[in-house]
Amino acid sequence: MGNDRDLKSARDAFRGMLGKARCIVPFTGAGISTECGIPDFRSPGGLWSLNQPISFQDFLDNPEMRREAWRRRFVMETAFGAARPGRGHRAVAGWVRQGRSPAVITQNIDNLHQEAGLGAGEVIELHGNTTYATCLGCGARHELAWIRGVFEAAGDPPACPWCRGLLKTATISFGQPMPQAALQRAALLARAADLFIAIGSSLVVHPAAELPALAKDEGALLVILNREATPLDDFADLVVHGEIGDVLDEYVQN
Ligand code: NAD
Repeated sequence: MGNDRDLKSARDAFRGMLGKARCIVPFTGAGISTECGIPDFRSPGGLWSLNQPISFQDFLDNPEMRREAWRRRFVMETAFGAARPGRGHRAVAGWVRQGRSPAVITQNIDNLHQEAGLGAGEVIELHGNTTYATCLGCGARHELAWIRGVFEAAGDPPACPWCRGLLKTATISFGQPMPQAALQRAALLARAADLFIAIGSSLVVHPAAELPALAKDEGALLVILNREATPLDDFADLVVHGEIGDVLDEYVQN
């Protein structure tokens, strides 16, 4: 397929595909946020090399796991709280603002697409959002600053004031049901795309990783932008092996 070209010719080919596209669907993973200071999961030094994830069942069953989940979250606040949108987020926001893309599909939980200017309806979050919490009982939203204050004073996170339910960051943990409405919207967008761009995803987390194939099967061109190989590289129409910020910089509008 000749899809693993050198970086310059890959960037030229990418520019050409973007120029012709009528419905660009960006699909982003943790790699778009590494230049913002948020580590990804699978790169060396990434989050998984530091901590094993806590499953949803463990969170439900075990108060110590819940304390550990909140401890980790507040440690991560140093990185999450300081992060600002990078060049990738800004390029993606530009495509949406120009009417070239209806929305971005993201595996990320860091809220940086919204901070780059996109509205809630323009960001389809497959794995939720870690910048606030929800009650597992009644679904009410709660802010992290309040939870942190109680946790640090009492050694335990608070219960939901409305229903006494468990509070958890609004993310999807392993073993937790996926958000069906978001998945359905993502599948519709993948089908509608004529250019689907997988940006900074290792493409191994399912079902999210099935979206690029769905888009291509329905007629889209598939571009993969990643500094490393992914399992879908041979299947893609174009692979751009480069740094996301560097490659997308030319599409950022100031
Ligand atoms: P991943 O960690 O599995 O893969 C990240 C990919 O991005 C890797 O293939 C890596 O080679 C590439 N990459 C990293 N920095 C790059 C850069 N600057 N330029 C080019 N490529 C770069 O991430 P994933 O596929 O998104 O899956 C992990 C899951 O972890 C996600 O579903 C998400 O829920 C969660 N997560 C989110 C964040 C976040 O919100 N920022 C951070 C870590 C993990």
